Amino acid sequence: MNDKLIKALAYENEIRIYVIDATEMVAEAQKRHDTWATATAALGRAMIGTTLLGATLKGNDKITVRIEGDGPVGYILVDSNGKGQTKGYIHNPQVNLPLNEKGKLDVRGAVGTEGMLTVSKDLGMKKPFVGQVPIISGELGEDFTYYMANSEQVPSAVGVSVLVNPDETVKAAGGFMIQVLPGAKEETIAKIESIIETLPLVSTLMENGETPEEILGRLVENKDYNILETTGVEFECDCSKERFADAIISLGVDEIQSMIDEDHGAEAVCHFCRTKYQYTESDLEELKVEAANQ
Ligand code: ZN
Repeated sequence: MNDKLIKALAYENEIRIYVIDATEMVAEAQKRHDTWATATAALGRAMIGTTLLGATLKGNDKITVRIEGDGPVGYILVDSNGKGQTKGYIHNPQVNLPLNEKGKLDVRGAVGTEGMLTVSKDLGMKKPFVGQVPIISGELGEDFTYYMANSEQVPSAVGVSVLVNPDETVKAAGGFMIQVLPGAKEETIAKIESIIETLPLVSTLMENGETPEEILGRLVENKDYNILETTGVEFECDCSKERFADAIISLGVDEIQSMIDEDHGAEAVCHFCRTKYQYTESDLEELKVEAANQ
């Protein structure tokens, strides 16, 4: 696995930087959901952004990002955690639009420009933390940036990009998140802003063979920095036959009986990873007993 995420401090500890290579993660999502190019970029960017936000969490903490715009892909749902395990869902995976005026995949056209970006964090407390901002761009990098500044009050810059091959497979996917820490000098902020403005897309740099460390080097102009942590990231779904069985049990005895009578079995499909789980008549008989005991 080549995917990874690095966390670093730079500019005399005034700036925190995260750089991620998520090529394999997004490639796996593309395969599982059979997404077409523009939808691949939209889902991929959402997964990269969510994984970057998730990198600020502790191991078992979870983050869910829901992006609901008025574009043809419908809503996008991404789950990640403090371990860099991410799964994603896009309502209409088969969306491909003409390239935009810059010759890039038209993610804004696919996501839409009206709608909401909602972040929910399960930090092991009674209630999850929920933050919501309107979609301001639809390109998603700017939307994550806007969310961080407005909902979490951390001045940030988030860049996310995905390159798709002509055969729909993913060529490169990656991004960065830069956070300005309290007490940062104006000149430091101006400096980092000017670097980001001229930085090529992370996916383009990765296509050219640059590593996350080299991209980090660009962001700090190869001056002093301190890598705090390097972690793996991956497409990972936590579904199981048992979990879906619990969902079937919750439908109740009558519903399970009709599955037995009419369909002689049942099939559950995970929305996030497209794994199919089969339940035979005898599986369902057992679940019916459990439902009756509830
Ligand atoms: Zn799954």
